[in-house]
Amino acid sequence: MTPGNSNIIWSSARSEAALEAGLPVPIEIRPMRNSRRLRLRFDDASGTLKLTCPWRTSRRAALKWALDQRDWIDAQLARSEPGEPFMPEATFPVEGRDVRIAWSEKSPRTPRLEGSELVCGGPQAGLQRRIQLFLKRLALEVMSREVAEFAALAGVSARQVSVGDAGSRWGSCSSAGRIRLSWRLILAPAHVRRYVVAHEVAHLVHLNHGRDFKALEARLLGPGVAEAKAALRRVGPRLRRIGRG
Ligand SMILES: [Zn+2]
Repeated sequence: MTPGNSNIIWSSARSEAALEAGLPVPIEIRPMRNSRRLRLRFDDASGTLKLTCPWRTSRRAALKWALDQRDWIDAQLARSEPGEPFMPEATFPVEGRDVRIAWSEKSPRTPRLEGSELVCGGPQAGLQRRIQLFLKRLALEVMSREVAEFAALAGVSARQVSVGDAGSRWGSCSSAGRIRLSWRLILAPAHVRRYVVAHEVAHLVHLNHGRDFKALEARLLGPGVAEAKAALRRVGPRLRRIGRG
C-alpha cells in the first residue's frame, strides 16, 4: 500500500472530534432547509466560524469540507488580528531572517537590504508603500527565477509569473500556464517559499492534486514537502499580518 492510500484510510477513520480539533477556532454548524451548498463565514465578534449547509449534510461531511477551507480560514483570522505595519525600528522577516527597518529621512528613498537592516529614507508618510513595493519586486525577481528553475526540471514553461496579495491563496496556476504567487512568500524561509513555487509549477503539468502531481512536486522540491507545508501553516498567519495596518 502506498503512503497516499493509507493516508486516505486514516483520514476517513478520523473522528468528528479529531476533525473539529483540526480547526483553529470553534465552529457552529447549522443545516438549513433551503440551503443548496455549504457556506462558511468567520464571525469577528465571537471569534467563531459559522457554517451553513444543506439539510441532509452530515456533521462529519461539513467538518471535512470546513477543513479543506483552512487557507481561507487562516486568512480571515489574520485579517481580524492587528497588523504589523512597516514603521521605523519595526522588525519583520525577509526569507525567514529578521530585518530591522532603519529609517532616516536623509537616506535614499528606495529601500535596500544591508545585512539585518532594511535601510530606507524619504518622508515617513510613504514608507509603508515603498517597503511593500520593494518586497514585491524582490519576490517577483526571486520567484520568477525559481519558477524557471523548476519548470526546466519538469520540462515545461510558464506563460507568465506575477505576484499579488490574493487573499487566502499563497499561489495559483491557471490552465493557460499563468502562475500567480503571494509577494508575502518572500518573508517566509526559503524552503517554504520554494515549496509553494514547486507546487504551482507542478500544476503546469497536472491541474489536480493526484498521485502524479504529488510525485512531480516531490521530484521538483526534493525532500521536505511535508515539513515545508507544516511550516507554512505555522508561519502563514503572521506573514499575512505583516505590512498591514
Ligand atoms: Zn494546488
